[in-house]
Amino acid sequence: MNIAFIAHDKKKEDIVQFVTAYEELLQEHDLYTTGTTGTRIMDATSLKVHRFQSGPLGGDQQIGARIAENKMDCVIFFKDPLTAQPHEPDITALIRLCDVYSIPLATNMATAEILLRGLQRGDFQWREVVKSKENKEG
Ligand code: PGA
Repeated sequence: MNIAFIAHDKKKEDIVQFVTAYEELLQEHDLYTTGTTGTRIMDATSLKVHRFQSGPLGGDQQIGARIAENKMDCVIFFKDPLTAQPHEPDITALIRLCDVYSIPLATNMATAEILLRGLQRGDFQWREVVKSKENKEG
């Protein structure tokens, strides 16, 4: 599965701890991140990630584009609800696209944990069905 990870600055430590806890599972998947989040994850683990631009410089929009192309299966977004973000419109747009395309989205660690446990037991197989159907339809 293609999984995106994004964390606002005050949540970066949390996401590092989170991916460290699930490192073994995540090794089996293709990981995508915004710029700084990706650097932090790669520094702390042996995971390889594809890094997009930093969030405020367009990284959220790049991940949104992958969702619109049906190339992202899950988004883990550790949002900071207590700090104003300069790229708030991009964040809103990304969340909206997850809803448009029914992409599983976690915006906090508790939900992220449930999503990854679902991933672990095969609950995401329906995404393969959606993707192969879309590919046939072109
Ligand atoms: P960053 O972007 O990983 O480059 O910090 C995340 C964000 O703040 O949207």
